[in-house]
Amino acid sequence: MSEYKKLILKSGRERSLVNRHPWVFSGAVKDLPKAKNGEIIQIVTNHNELLGYAFFAPNSQITARVFEFNPNEIEINEAYWIDKIKNAFNLRKLFINPMQTNCYRLIHAEGDFFPGIIADVYADVVVIQLLIKGTELISEIIFKALNEIGFKHIYLKTKQNTQLLEQVEQVSRWVAEPKEMPVLVFENGVKFQINVETGQKTGFFIDQRENRRILATYSKGKKVLNTFSYSGGFSVYALEAGAELVHSVDSSKDAIELCEQNVELSGLANKHKSYVSDVFEFLKEVEPSFYDIIVLDPPAFAKHARAVDNAARGYKNLNLLGFQKVKPGGLIFTYSCSQHIDKDLFRKIVFGAAADARRNVRILQQLSQPEDHPINIYHPEGEYLKGLLLQVD
Ligand code: SAH
Repeated sequence: MSEYKKLILKSGRERSLVNRHPWVFSGAVKDLPKAKNGEIIQIVTNHNELLGYAFFAPNSQITARVFEFNPNEIEINEAYWIDKIKNAFNLRKLFINPMQTNCYRLIHAEGDFFPGIIADVYADVVVIQLLIKGTELISEIIFKALNEIGFKHIYLKTKQNTQLLEQVEQVSRWVAEPKEMPVLVFENGVKFQINVETGQKTGFFIDQRENRRILATYSKGKKVLNTFSYSGGFSVYALEAGAELVHSVDSSKDAIELCEQNVELSGLANKHKSYVSDVFEFLKEVEPSFYDIIVLDPPAFAKHARAVDNAARGYKNLNLLGFQKVKPGGLIFTYSCSQHIDKDLFRKIVFGAAADARRNVRILQQLSQPEDHPINIYHPEGEYLKGLLLQVD
């Protein structure tokens, strides 16, 4: 049996870990183990009680990420990881109907008790992002497990943005049989083409699946504006649900091209127009009361905690424009995917915008991320996507 090095917590700093929050912050550490970046270590209290097993990251603010709370000596071997991945897969079988949806999140980091990894499925392709050294070190086992489950094509994708938790040494590449792009997928029966090599994130914003379905239920006969449209997820649902017209706006020309390809697949391009434009500038020019429904789904304005104030102003301005422009009796679907802006703060920001617009606004639904992005109850940070469906008088 392997011997794991121990990270000893300061006296009184074990509370959050006893409560199964998976992060050990540097300030809570009494004794660092002599372990390498990414090595699997044990987390113990000041009284040498074993709490669990974690990936070590000596140079990160989060010194260790626990993937297993367990007071017993166990061996973290290949079978352990294969089991974890199979558990994640089996959970998805509960709610993903493969006749309707073949793109979904298979592994959602802390939400699957597996910090440092995201894995998204697009038909027979899995796209993986390894966010810490710990998961990078076991990557071969992860690829093998995914192969055993039945995924032939595996693409490893480097995370491009600043949320990168630690420096990892990867180059985006196929790590199992390559597949020609784009791959055709369906989500709630709606078809999309995804390019996992060149697309944003892992290729598609699969976390909006349920919210797109909800938009569809309101779209028949309506004029819909989809802002920050990326590859047109919301737009195609609205078109297929019988919208009178749909306009998509994104500042990226590449995104608009993807959007148009997906609209083309639906056969409803005659009801669609797209605009390469800054959303704020576009909204300012919109004729008031033209759109029945406006979707506001911007990128994360707050990528870190220090950015929250600026981000709040951004969300407020955006929602204010939405409230000023939407038709009386119309709907706004508004979202934030910033981890650092929680549900309550987001609601307060939207409240502020509504008050400034001096219109009656009602919350019809509170929206979140779907089941394949589970939220570990001890790790509220995992609840990153929040939204409101609003009716504006
Ligand atoms: N709603 C999309 C995902 C949005 S991702 C979906 O369901 O798939 C955010 C998008 O906003 C990106 O495509 C990015 O190009 C675009 N974007 C970012 N800032 C923008 C701005 N100021 N104006 C217009 N588009 C912007």
